[in-house]
Amino acid sequence: MNNLNMTNEFCPGDRVLLIDNKQRSYLLTLKEDGKFHSHAGIIDHFDIIGKHEGVKLTTSKGYKVIAFRPTLEDIVYKMPRGAQVIYPKDIGKILIAADIYPGAAVIESGVGSGALSMAMLRCGAKIIGYEIRDDFATVAQNNVHNFLNTPYEYDVKIKDIYEGIDETNIDRIILDLPEPHRVVIYAKVSLKKGGIFLSYLPTINQVSILVEELKEYDFDDISVTETLERSWYVTKRSVRPDHRMVAHTGFIIKSRNT
Ligand code: SAH
Repeated sequence: MNNLNMTNEFCPGDRVLLIDNKQRSYLLTLKEDGKFHSHAGIIDHFDIIGKHEGVKLTTSKGYKVIAFRPTLEDIVYKMPRGAQVIYPKDIGKILIAADIYPGAAVIESGVGSGALSMAMLRCGAKIIGYEIRDDFATVAQNNVHNFLNTPYEYDVKIKDIYEGIDETNIDRIILDLPEPHRVVIYAKVSLKKGGIFLSYLPTINQVSILVEELKEYDFDDISVTETLERSWYVTKRSVRPDHRMVAHTGFIIKSRNT
């Protein structure tokens, strides 16, 4: 992405989101001689380069498409994945609940595909990642590298966080793995007083075990939430919720070290 391009015209190397007349979207990286192929026909990258965001184009088969720069949410849905990513609705909630701020020292585990890492790095956090799978660590590092065009601090260790945390004086510990209760004992030492421990968990059984462990280690200000997002269908004659929704993703457990 080239967010520093003040004229906002598309350049070779920029990432572009194409949206067709049926609201299907496609992510591509512009090359001088590139061609984008879909069932709707072909678009020459050359016809996008030098144009402004929002440019409307016509494919070789006569269909209309529109070109924008992708948002973080667009990229999270379309980027290569190792592990399952956290849904953008939950990423937004995590950034606020964990109060991620510029310069915050954050331990994140596992890093998976790097979706949450991207969002926290863009808030200015300095992340030390613990990931047991080196193939996932590589996917996450590549996704972060392709997304951010400003300097960032992202150090991913290939390490099982259940065996311990090396760092101390940490501001935030953010976990997306199956047994976060096993990390509480290390978080107690690693986190600053008042530091935030946040975990994302799919089942309430796991939440229950974690909350008991947090109480055992005298963490305070414990909250458990889930975030429901319902999209709506809006036309002149019909305004109603969409028929389908994602009913469940995960619970967010936040607590503070004392
Ligand atoms: N939040 C990530 C997805 C994480 S998926 C994203 O937004 O993209 C869960 C990850 O935790 C997987 O990559 C898995 O390999 C890793 N993991 C599981 N147990 C772990 C452990 N004990 N230590 C470190 N990483 C672990």
